[in-house]
Amino acid sequence: MAGEPQDDCLFCKLVAGTVPATIVRESDTTVAFRDINPQAPTHILVIPKAHYENAASLATGAPELAADVLRETQAVADDEKLESYRTIFNTGSGAGQTIWHAHAHVLGGRGLEWPPG
Ligand code: AMP
Ligand code: ZN
Repeated sequence: MAGEPQDDCLFCKLVAGTVPATIVRESDTTVAFRDINPQAPTHILVIPKAHYENAASLATGAPELAADVLRETQAVADDEKLESYRTIFNTGSGAGQTIWHAHAHVLGGRGLEWPPG
């Protein structure tokens, strides 16, 4: 069922505490942690605790939760003292999605080119 934990999902395991992570923020509905393979001086992932495959299915299935994730990206940026940052949701393997649990990448701490690759 949408939103239910998935046994084979790394980020559901991370939420459950059975996979380690460097957690920087947690709310009732979200967790934010450092990306294991950072692409910028600050690279933090914000996830809903509930399992949704990608950003759009999260927004469709749980719009308030999608808003929680977006609000947390700003809170992360504030904590990291980032004036500017980029929020990315990869959707589909062709766009680089490797984990099928919605996650916002928050990138900052260096110049971020536009348009991105
Ligand atoms: P994506 O490629 O958009 O699906 O993003 C998945 C991200 O998760 C990548 O940037 C990975 O480096 C990151 N990642 C994978 N495993 C872990 C982990 N155990 N802890 C933190 N970040 C992870
Ligand atoms: Zn999951």
